[in-house]
Amino acid sequence: MRGARIVVAGGGLAGIAAAVEAAGLGARVTLVERRPFLGGKAFSFTDPRTGAEIDNGQHVHLGCCTAYISLLDRLGSIGLTAMQPALRVDVRDRAGTHGVLIARRLPAPLHMGPSFARYGLLSPAERVRAARALTAIAALGPAGRDALDHVAFGEWLRAHGQRDAAIERFWDVVILPTCNDRSDRVSAALAMFVITEGLMRTRGGASIGWALAGLSHLVDAPARRLLQREGGRVVSGHAVTSADAGGVDLDDGTRLEADAVVLALPPGRARAVAPGALPVDPALGESPIVNVHLWYDRPVLDRAVLAVVDSPVQWMFDRTAITGEGAPGQHLALSLSAARAEMGVPRPELAEHMDREVRKLLPARNAVLQAWAVTKDARATFAPSPGQAARRPAARTPVQGLVLAGTWTATGWPATMEGAVRSGLAAVHEAARQMGGERA
Ligand SMILES: Cc1cc2nc3c(=O)[nH]c(=O)nc-3n(C[C@H](O)[C@H](O)[C@H](O)COP(=O)(O)OP(=O)(O)OC[C@H]3O[C@@H](n4cnc5c(N)ncnc54)[C@H](O)[C@@H]3O)c2cc1C
Repeated sequence: MRGARIVVAGGGLAGIAAAVEAAGLGARVTLVERRPFLGGKAFSFTDPRTGAEIDNGQHVHLGCCTAYISLLDRLGSIGLTAMQPALRVDVRDRAGTHGVLIARRLPAPLHMGPSFARYGLLSPAERVRAARALTAIAALGPAGRDALDHVAFGEWLRAHGQRDAAIERFWDVVILPTCNDRSDRVSAALAMFVITEGLMRTRGGASIGWALAGLSHLVDAPARRLLQREGGRVVSGHAVTSADAGGVDLDDGTRLEADAVVLALPPGRARAVAPGALPVDPALGESPIVNVHLWYDRPVLDRAVLAVVDSPVQWMFDRTAITGEGAPGQHLALSLSAARAEMGVPRPELAEHMDREVRKLLPARNAVLQAWAVTKDARATFAPSPGQAARRPAARTPVQGLVLAGTWTATGWPATMEGAVRSGLAAVHEAARQMGGERA
């Protein structure tokens, strides 16, 4: 790609990864982002009511997210994240029954065995049945898993001896936050990919990582600096209005000529700007995420992260422990995946409801709620429904020199930062291949 002019449309993680990769291959890169900042679906902002910097949604990455971790390393911002040395996640129900999932010092996949054997949210009989289902998943292999894309994971689980309680109290602890829906609405192939990649393949695969600062600090300025250093540039605050293999047009009438164009846009936008590149609407659908931030005058949660199985709270993060912000009180971020019901609830009501739920779960009787904030994204991720794999296009399009990236393309991953980064790399490698470049 040395000397080639590459335009990347869309400054989310897919576009950033594509731009950084193309620059690393010697291309002259222009990254165009409609909004004033880079980061796409993973950004932070100052909440106007509280004045606090919050993320558009709590993001975590796992040890298996190697491409995302490498991108942050390349951007010089990996130091703004932390990761558990080994997975430890505490799970409980409203009644106080407790389970812990821990990655022990044993070769994968045995590393999860000891904590799973004691996982208190399943009865001994349920644990035996779940272990059998896990063994069946491992035995399928990638091709066997992929063949189950049109099947709902919940259906597969039931056919393999799992009852509703086990699905809620074990399987959905993993599937709901990673795929952004419950097993009954998730492709079995996608769910099994997550379980295999995260829990079975390597000991560190499920270690949880998070940003120690607002998400925008990880990518916005670092990506601008890196691209500038490599002779590229970022055009932000301008939308691409049309794109072809020879370049893109911007909303101010500017034309940017290119030898290849990477469209790292949401699917609807990609189709709107370059119908020839995406002739068929992938019709993936969407799944929402809601976050509720609660600032208490004192600590109420005694660990960095807690999952709750039978409560609308789902996952709680101690932002004060993670970022230091909110001390001496405590800032909790509640992350609600597939939050279809919560999307329609007015924000003050939702905050009040979640405060009540937190008080039922934690020793917070005397704690004073000092402030709250709610973020909602109806289009947080594509819907991970059965049949999703067949609808996700590859980087290559019918138009030579015009390639696709985005978490919704055919990465095999659910809608994650890792999927986005991988898609950006795949798009650049496809463009390089088409240009007869060194990555062919
Ligand atoms: C609330 C929430 C919580 C999440 N939690 C997690 C998590 O814990 N872990 C995880 O891994 N993932 C999580 N995700 C998913 C993850 O953030 C996304 O999958 C990923 O960031 C998507 O990146 P992308 O580059 O593919 O798309 P996007 O981020 O959507 O990027 C597309 C970019 O294109 C820009 N654009 C649109 N139209 C134009 C145009 N015409 N011209 C120029 N630019 C344009 C957009 O402004 C945007 O910046 C979460 C998402 C949300 C919303």
